[in-house]
Amino acid sequence: MIATLILAAARRGGVACRSFATASQRFEQQENALYSTGDLPGRNVDLFGPLAVRLVKGKGRGYVATGPIELGDLLLCARPAAALHGPVEDAPDAALLMPQLMALRPEALEWPQRAALAHLSDGTEASVSQPPPPFWDPPSAGGAAASGAAAAASAAWPPPDEALARLIKVNAFGDDYEDLAAAAARGAGGRSCVGLWPAFAYFNHSCLPSTVHYVVGERMVVRAVQDIAEGEEVTISFLGRQEFAPVGARQAVLRERWGFECTCERCAVEAAAPPEVGRAVDAAYARVMTELRPAFLEAAEAGDPSALAAAARGLRDADASVRAALKAHAERAHPATATFAAAALYELHELAYAATQLGTGFGGDDGGERGQEALAALSRCLAIVDAVSRGAELHCFLAARLLELASAARGRDSAAAAAALQLVGQAGEARYGKQLGEKLWGALQAANAELAGEYL
Ligand SMILES: [Zn+2]
Repeated sequence: MIATLILAAARRGGVACRSFATASQRFEQQENALYSTGDLPGRNVDLFGPLAVRLVKGKGRGYVATGPIELGDLLLCARPAAALHGPVEDAPDAALLMPQLMALRPEALEWPQRAALAHLSDGTEASVSQPPPPFWDPPSAGGAAASGAAAAASAAWPPPDEALARLIKVNAFGDDYEDLAAAAARGAGGRSCVGLWPAFAYFNHSCLPSTVHYVVGERMVVRAVQDIAEGEEVTISFLGRQEFAPVGARQAVLRERWGFECTCERCAVEAAAPPEVGRAVDAAYARVMTELRPAFLEAAEAGDPSALAAAARGLRDADASVRAALKAHAERAHPATATFAAAALYELHELAYAATQLGTGFGGDDGGERGQEALAALSRCLAIVDAVSRGAELHCFLAARLLELASAARGRDSAAAAAALQLVGQAGEARYGKQLGEKLWGALQAANAELAGEYL
């Protein structure tokens, strides 16, 4: 592993990158411990990959890669300035962070949270129009500006109530789950969380993010889910499950909650799609969310086969209407239009998979081909998540479930099972990186497979 890291450092070049590789190696060891016991000394070290905050055209400030980044690279592991936990699917309200933050003494925070905290955006144009001092550099490597910022933070803390409330609204992050497989691997129950991770708050949003982020214990972990070139912006998704919606619905959420218009590549492609395609996607999405999904869930709950079959027919029709629009206008559409249309209809495809599991085939009434239908429907879901939400917990669940289905339908030694195993590896690498020990890797895979069984 050490040889690999040295090679990686050589590829990246430069002293800063070499020290990142060393820090990364050290962190991977700590992370192994964090995932398993969480109790080794020295684990409270923050880690920054090759990132710096710069002004990004049309967006204000955001993280930019200062060197080449590879899929699976760990980019950030940040401790919170304040955090609260709750039961799974019931994250505490972010406003409850207020007392913790008021009592916070910035001088008790270590680099870089203290300096990052001092320059958080309050949502105003002015607060994002200048990059902050370089808190991402260690103090020994020219962190004088950061130290100055940290001193300023101590002097100005806590801000007045109203300003603090705004700071929380713009920068706090909540999740209904921490990483469930990591929690299981270290023998802890899963829980929800809300917190303010100052260094994490500098990431901008994209509906096609180049990273995945999740909470392990108290830490916010960010990993690259694709190769990223030096100089490119590094993005996260703010949306959670709502990323599986058409451009209009996503933009409405982003505008309402964070007050900006998303200009990401996915939004641009969807907005520029032939209007007939956009209308077909919007209509199918609305029908799935308001009519078919509730009807399907109700029928599944009641165990009513004819109602289930009717809902499955509706799903099939909605899918067919979008496919027809895509086919009719294919020559005017961007090559990614079909992928993004499918992503907007992920809920439809997941229900279609569920229909195969409940014995109500999506592709027709040929019950004998049910195994084949289930594999096809699940593969579609997996391809969508890989395209727009790579490294998500859902990505790992879908891959684990596909492996199970393929092994059951075709045998453990079949080509289908081998292909599914490869997809499990890809999802795991995007979420957990390439350098995990075999034992931890096995524990995470097993936990994800078990969770997939509960979820899907
Ligand atoms: Zn977008």
